[in-house]
Amino acid sequence: MENIKCLVLGAGPAGYTTAIYASRAGIPTVLYEGMEPGGQLTTTTIVENYPGFSGGVDANTLMAEMKAQAQRFGAQVRRGSAVKANLSRRPFHITIDDGTELLAETLVIATGATAKYLGLPSETQYRGMGVSACATCDGFFYRKKVVAVVGGGDTACEEAVYLAGLARKVYMIVRRDVFRASKAMQEKVFATENIEILWNCNTQEVLGDGSGVTGARLLRKDGTVFDIEVDGFFLAIGHHPNAEIFAPAVALDENGYILTEGKSSRTSVPGVFAAGDVQDPSYRQAVTAAASGCKAAIDVRDFLLENK
Ligand code: NDP
Repeated sequence: MENIKCLVLGAGPAGYTTAIYASRAGIPTVLYEGMEPGGQLTTTTIVENYPGFSGGVDANTLMAEMKAQAQRFGAQVRRGSAVKANLSRRPFHITIDDGTELLAETLVIATGATAKYLGLPSETQYRGMGVSACATCDGFFYRKKVVAVVGGGDTACEEAVYLAGLARKVYMIVRRDVFRASKAMQEKVFATENIEILWNCNTQEVLGDGSGVTGARLLRKDGTVFDIEVDGFFLAIGHHPNAEIFAPAVALDENGYILTEGKSSRTSVPGVFAAGDVQDPSYRQAVTAAASGCKAAIDVRDFLLENK
């Protein structure tokens, strides 16, 4: 069975940055791309806030560059997703979806998190054309426009307040008559004049003209159906960290995110590290994911030095 010094799972900014740093440090590194080569970023178009690109950069180009950079230093990038992980002893035993069995001296989990969507066909149709699950990424495109945010948790409130600073008006579509968000976040929403909360509402359909979002059709609990006109439709109904196959060996928090030790990328299993959104419910940015990938590679290097 192949024995890999540093196995990286995930091909977003966290996974590629781990591979760049680890392979450049002379550690033989293999990266499996997982279900979504390029990661969540590839669901957007232009990335305008990744440092170093004054005119913005196409998301797919950015990820292709990260991949090429990792390969330049010798990292092997392979197609496939891990489906099973036996982390009870080192080297760790990993099974890939094509049936390949691997041993890994160290493992970096950079499998990301998947934004939850409502599951409406119209929402899928307009994804990237007005439908977004990241206000920080796409809010800028809606300056002086009207947008809707779905959800009533901390993320929805935070994104609504952020968008209210850019957009002319923000609707919050909340399915109950209360927020799930913390008091502090709720108060920020209530104090923001250009946010209108639509309580007890569910989205029936995202409306569009074929080239972009123009509105949303909502169903209120009392049975009323009505339309709102919006240019952007933001989902903030939670994320799903892709960490199941590593539990219970690797400790997760109550929302399923991998717990890391202090400022490091170390998980509860020595030799297993986590980077990017799979361990980050708060920041979820390409640049923060990349930074955590860098930390993971340095932690791998230190671990290998200590455990020769
Ligand atoms: P949450 O799970 O906390 O909230 C999800 C929200 O979306 C809820 O209001 C929920 O409604 C609603 N929702 C879920 N599914 C649907 C659906 N199908 N249709 C309509 N609405 C739906 O997720 P968050 O991403 O907001 O937060 C995740 C974690 O991260 C939390 O622990 C949160 O506190 C934390 N966080 C903290 C921040 C901070 O402290 N600054 C910032 C962001 C997140 P309902 O309430 O009815 O279930």
